[in-house]
Amino acid sequence: MGDDHSSLLRNLQSIVGEEWVSDDQAILESYGKDPGFNTVLRKHQKDPNMLPELVILPETTEQIQSIIKIAKDYRRCVIPIGTGNNQTGFCIPIRPKTISVDTKRMNRILKIDEVNMTAIIQPGVSYARLQQETMKKGLWNGGTPLAPSNHHLISQIHAFYGLWQSALKYSMGIRALVNLKGVTSEGDILETGSACLPRAGNFWWYGPGPDLKGLLESTTTGSIWFITEATLKLFPWAGGDWPNEEVIDRPPLPANHRIYFVEFRKWEDMYQFFYEVSHNAIGSHMNLCNDTFNSFNTQPTIEETERKFKEGYFPKLLVYVILAGVSSTKQLEFEERVLMDIVRDTNGILRTDELKEVLSTWHGDAFRSATSMRMGRRGSYHLVKMSELPLNCVEEVYKDHMSLVEGTEHYMTDEEIPWVYIHDRGYWSLNETDSYFDQNDPKECERTMKRVTTGLFRMVTDENNRTGWYICGLEPLTTLYGPKIGPNFHLLLKKIKMVFDPTDTMNPGKLINI
Ligand SMILES: Cc1cc2nc3c(=O)[nH]c(=O)nc-3n(C[C@H](O)[C@H](O)[C@H](O)COP(=O)(O)OP(=O)(O)OC[C@H]3O[C@@H](n4cnc5c(N)ncnc54)[C@H](O)[C@@H]3O)c2cc1C
Repeated sequence: MGDDHSSLLRNLQSIVGEEWVSDDQAILESYGKDPGFNTVLRKHQKDPNMLPELVILPETTEQIQSIIKIAKDYRRCVIPIGTGNNQTGFCIPIRPKTISVDTKRMNRILKIDEVNMTAIIQPGVSYARLQQETMKKGLWNGGTPLAPSNHHLISQIHAFYGLWQSALKYSMGIRALVNLKGVTSEGDILETGSACLPRAGNFWWYGPGPDLKGLLESTTTGSIWFITEATLKLFPWAGGDWPNEEVIDRPPLPANHRIYFVEFRKWEDMYQFFYEVSHNAIGSHMNLCNDTFNSFNTQPTIEETERKFKEGYFPKLLVYVILAGVSSTKQLEFEERVLMDIVRDTNGILRTDELKEVLSTWHGDAFRSATSMRMGRRGSYHLVKMSELPLNCVEEVYKDHMSLVEGTEHYMTDEEIPWVYIHDRGYWSLNETDSYFDQNDPKECERTMKRVTTGLFRMVTDENNRTGWYICGLEPLTTLYGPKIGPNFHLLLKKIKMVFDPTDTMNPGKLINI
């Protein structure tokens, strides 16, 4: 890289200190890894652009400002990174001369406002950390995705909106965002919502003019600006101190919470159950936790996972519901009575046997997920199809998914039924099927990629499919599917990118190529 590289390195070192910038090959390699099929294939093809030129760990908004300005001067690209664990390739460089900006040192909770129930956090704060600190005060952020809770809250919401297991009551993480602060590709500091009005304060997400937060908070995958602070809503936490897990994989349920596993033999009964629980406004979590997830999340090895899956140990239609006694234990008793009535009326089978014991990993994972990385042992998880229809499309999604899977050679857990999150008291549901593959086998990886893109194509072109999620965020998918989603959708994205980042400094190739 010659002198250009050396002088860039020196300049960056002068901002954060020598120890926080590196061009060491071993460190760069660790920032060029991702188990998504697109990145795994690039790895097999030995694509040299996957490694960043430099990795830097800033500590303040002002340091990020300086990094972005220097990057521009040196015509470098910038990728913001949380834990880098999105499994989709969002943090992997596409272009040469990329600076990976890791936010792990920006891990301060700047304020917990107990009265107004908000927290101001830096981008390096994880779900686990925020929960740990807020739960001590009888508050929490309202949930966790089924992703490891070391994932950073801001990057998680930024990448995938924060699809929480507690979406029944608390909706998506993105709904909890109040205000954002960040650095634009020009190196300016920008605040959204009421925070941008002098003296108004940081409590309301609309500011003067268009809703900038809406534009900046998600789907941009670090490709428009760099978030350095976020204000989030908090909610009352009934669980007291986080319980100690004295036996590994057998975590106790937090206090004032109850969990129920309800099996169904018919799809229609399960839909009715979803409907009744939602519309009676009970419970905090309700998810169809499928046999694949149950196998991965409860078994310690791949061999055991495969054995449990093959023998059909976990029922296909198994819903878990969590009740929370937020106001009192009487609330728990009342909600339990309502739930039992609904189970009976919808022909549900309440599982209180050995299965419940095996599934007790969910006691912790439903609030602060820890074991979900076990899915990553067999390559990565990959979405094939999602759908958002009112509660009753699980079977449809399953059949669609199976028609793709059955047509190709596949790994057995690809035969999963969708994982279903029920959102907003049943206002909508989200159904996700995944594909697993062996990262060491490029052929299997290629097959998976083909299957996933075929599924996406079907989804986008199907007039009855009310979804647009996950498709755009990574080129060439955006440009490929843009014209199908709507006339000139991809061109609109291009214009947005041109306004915020005309020199394509921020995470190029993610969101849209310009
Ligand atoms: C096993 C597993 C299960 C999962 N299940 C779920 C689930 O149930 N629900 C769900 O919603 N998600 C789920 N995910 C997705 C995962 O939680 C997200 O991809 C999340 O982004 C990972 O967090 P991270 O800190 O590693 O983000 P990263 O991968 O570091 O970053 C994600 C994106 O955000 C950008 N970014 C990071 N920091 C900033 C910043 N400060 N400013 C601007 N852009 C930034 C990055 O450039 C990148 O494009 C799952 C992931 C795994 C591995």
